[in-house]
Amino acid sequence: MNNILNNLNVIHNRMIKACKKANRAKEEVRLLLATKTVEPNCINFALEQGETLIGENKVQELKQKCHSVKEKNPEVHFIGHLQSNKIKEVLKWVTCIESIDRLSVAEKLQNKLAQENKQIDIFIQVNTSFEKSKFGVAPNETIELIKNIAKFKNIHIKGLMTIGLLSSKSNEIRKCFQLLKKIQKEVIALNIPNVEMSELSMGMSKDLEIAIEEGATIIRVGTAIFGDRIYPDSYYWNESDKS
Ligand SMILES: *Cc1c(COP(=O)(O)O)cnc(C)c1O
Repeated sequence: MNNILNNLNVIHNRMIKACKKANRAKEEVRLLLATKTVEPNCINFALEQGETLIGENKVQELKQKCHSVKEKNPEVHFIGHLQSNKIKEVLKWVTCIESIDRLSVAEKLQNKLAQENKQIDIFIQVNTSFEKSKFGVAPNETIELIKNIAKFKNIHIKGLMTIGLLSSKSNEIRKCFQLLKKIQKEVIALNIPNVEMSELSMGMSKDLEIAIEEGATIIRVGTAIFGDRIYPDSYYWNESDKS
């Protein structure tokens, strides 16, 4: 637990430094704890230190952990690949789905929301790195997707999400985040009803500084806080289902 406390301090200091460099107020950037594979007691410890936002990738984990952390009342986002048959379960726990990347799943989400008389916030996940293995709508198809999803009355588009290129070349990573920012500006200029574009969820353990410099409003950090995971990221990110 000492490690987690220490790591949280390191992350907040990195955020402060990056905000300063980018001439932004620290309050403009929220820290989301990416809690996949993390034990509930570790998540609860982080929440006790004042963290307020967590993100899960898998519905099974979401369900188990939300039970264990609900006393702390964190805001919960879904950040993983959403399968249509899991929508009902996800809606029980989260206020925002950051990973909507196709019309078919948004349609099913809208149907379920209407049935249950619920509303939800979403971000559109964009594949800014153009890697085939990554989820996310292609950058040049993003606006069309947003226009279509904007028609769904129970879904509110609040911003964009991306996973930057996994690379040691910071200029290549930066290009991904700049592309997301560019799409955000284009969408704002279109003034689409029922679309707000205030949030940019980008930046993780290794590239959060670049993301903050390029305009992130939410950074999603896992390993730099909770330590290495036993599963490779491909377990969470690769395409096993395009329902
Ligand atoms: C795991 C994960 C993160 C956090 O990645 P780290 O490198 O552990 O900081 C961020 N976003 C998504 C979508 C993730 O699945």
